[in-house]
Amino acid sequence: MIIAVDGPTASGKGTIAKALAVHFDLPHLDTGLLYRAVGRQVALNEGDPDNPQDALLACDFPDELLEDPVLRSEETGGLASRVSVHPAVREALFTRQRAFAEQDGGAVLDGRDIGTIIAPDAHVKLYITASVEERARRRWLEMTGREIEIPLAEIEEDIIRRDNRDINRADAPLKAAPEAMVIDTTALHKDAAIETVIEAVEAALR
Ligand code: C5P
Repeated sequence: MIIAVDGPTASGKGTIAKALAVHFDLPHLDTGLLYRAVGRQVALNEGDPDNPQDALLACDFPDELLEDPVLRSEETGGLASRVSVHPAVREALFTRQRAFAEQDGGAVLDGRDIGTIIAPDAHVKLYITASVEERARRRWLEMTGREIEIPLAEIEEDIIRRDNRDINRADAPLKAAPEAMVIDTTALHKDAAIETVIEAVEAALR
């Protein structure tokens, strides 16, 4: 069984995908991490994330980079969003994501284009969303927890900028697959969001 979980940044899709993986005993791939690794590798190469050649070269990042905590930073998220607009980068990362989706027994993948491009054949497709204000608030709380001081307004602007880039890019833009279940987590606490989604997936599988 393949479960595709898409949605914008800080919508809760990662947490939900992880919980689904545990509940259904499936392996999980956070595909955003692959784009973050490419963004980080461009910086390490002192390349330009907006240059398609520099971005493609960075797809050859070492696997250990996926473990680097710097990948979780806002800065790397911004670089990931910039390298992800290049079709050659998306193509280079396609095979790895597709192989993960096709493994025996199935998988849960979360990202932006899982239900539309990577696994259009997924058994269950979810699109997790939340208001910009709530997503900014969550990101701010998470960063404050890590003792990173950043004004809420700055996070909100960054989220809007990234949403615009992800939604408006020509290749594999962020959007819900027509058959996806859309779940808005704005008013839901983490546990309630997880419970809602698990119930929705179980109902869809009945
Ligand atoms: O999900 P996360 O915030 O880690 O993703 C970082 C960036 O990588 C996103 O803003 C998006 O531009 C890109 N991405 C993508 N396709 C995916 C996953 C992430 O374009 N499947």
